[in-house]
Amino acid sequence: MIEIRFHGRGGQGGVVASELLAQAAFLDGKIPQSFPFFGVERRGAPVTAYSRIDDRPIALRTSITAPHVVVVLDPGLLATERVTDGLKPGGLLLVNTTHAPETLAAPGGVRRAAVDATHIALAHGLGTAMLPIVNTAVLGALARATEVVSLEALSRAVEQFVPARPEENRLAARDGYLGVRTVDGTAGPSVPLPTSPRVAGPSLPEGPMASLSSERIHTAAWRTFTPVIHLDRCTKCNFCWKFCPDDAIEFDAVGFPKLRLEYCKGCGICAAECPPKTIEMVAEV
Ligand code: SF4
Ligand code: SF4
Repeated sequence: MIEIRFHGRGGQGGVVASELLAQAAFLDGKIPQSFPFFGVERRGAPVTAYSRIDDRPIALRTSITAPHVVVVLDPGLLATERVTDGLKPGGLLLVNTTHAPETLAAPGGVRRAAVDATHIALAHGLGTAMLPIVNTAVLGALARATEVVSLEALSRAVEQFVPARPEENRLAARDGYLGVRTVDGTAGPSVPLPTSPRVAGPSLPEGPMASLSSERIHTAAWRTFTPVIHLDRCTKCNFCWKFCPDDAIEFDAVGFPKLRLEYCKGCGICAAECPPKTIEMVAEV
């Protein structure tokens, strides 16, 4: 059995990626399983999804804590999430990044792979510059780096189960397959592994679920895009403030919106809702 853990952000297609992988494995004659883990947050929030693939029925129903493969759809998560936790020796870390696989931090002995899924997705018109839908390009890369599914089965799964732009998604999977670069794990990590989140959060109360306000959890740690408000075109309509899920917008003395960046997770909802489109989302990485 091979166990795969996907790390992405809400809206990037990580959950659909694990489902598509399972469909492709089924078309290849294997037994798949896939399921997501969501927190209470949505767009922009870290999301984890899991896939198991075997030749026999899978009885396990637990989340995956010691995966053979970790797939990271958003490179910004490398700085804020401990994505390689539990990754098995000899396993694979696959990251959507423009950087070479040699630059990826991973435990010693882990193979590393890199694919520029963001540019592949944008080249095929999948998503927007702020939120490209990178899942099919990443799956193509995964198919080649692991051979866990064939490109043919993945292409058929995309055609059958992706409702929007199936042809563009199929081509993105092909380009991800062709564009992935891998390096073996014998060289060990080239840069130190992160030992703590970029912005330390408070210690959470014990229990199965913690509920705290964003006054205590600084969701800025998730951000890879920053909103920039062009005040010369702002009408002071307050829509950005009204729709911001993290109360990350306040007002200055004359009524213009002002960001509270320590709480802004970069979800882009304010930019989408601003009537005169005066908010620009600028990439941080
Ligand atoms: S300020 Fe904008 S980008 Fe930041 S959390 Fe609020 S809605 Fe999202
Ligand atoms: S939604 Fe746009 S126009 Fe309205 S207050 Fe916010 S930035 Fe200004």
